[in-house]
Amino acid sequence: MKIIELYWYREDRIHLAWLGEKLSEVYGATVELSGEVVLPRTFYDVVRGQWLSNQVLGYALVLKSKSDADVLLLVVGDDAYVPGLNFVFGQALLGEGVAVVYTARLYPEFYGLESDTRLFRSRLLKEAMHEIGHALGLDHCNHSRCVMRFSNSIYEVDAKEPRYCSRCVLKLEAQGVKVSEQYTITT
Ligand SMILES: [Zn+2]
Ligand SMILES: [Zn+2]
Repeated sequence: MKIIELYWYREDRIHLAWLGEKLSEVYGATVELSGEVVLPRTFYDVVRGQWLSNQVLGYALVLKSKSDADVLLLVVGDDAYVPGLNFVFGQALLGEGVAVVYTARLYPEFYGLESDTRLFRSRLLKEAMHEIGHALGLDHCNHSRCVMRFSNSIYEVDAKEPRYCSRCVLKLEAQGVKVSEQYTITT
């Protein structure tokens, strides 16, 4: 993997810069901070106060079609859902190189807790690695600590690590993606 393009909406640029550095470490790729986007209000469900993730993902797909990046990640500083689910932490197009992460529920403040930048960033990295994993063709994984494990709650996000298990690493390698050793589970 050579290039990851990072776009964002309503998220602090300083967190994006941090994430960009981490992702470049994880995949040995160049991460381009491509800019802030303005999502159309028609993608927003005012009754639920959430973005329709399918629409946002479609928007990201259009950005990707104009780009020569291997992966395009859009980080949205708000909450979103898909029909049938109360919320999603992110969504990706399997194997299509397109991923979206929603950060509203990654902030401790969302749960009435004190701000904790380190905790927020660790969650952000895990969810970005999870959705990028899908974007690169990975399914969910049963390994208890693998970043590709499905998370239905923030507790499950916190329980996993920002690392891929050996099974997921092999699948990524088959796609020509090499993961730095510190982001793999070796035990
Ligand atoms: Zn998933
Ligand atoms: Zn795994």
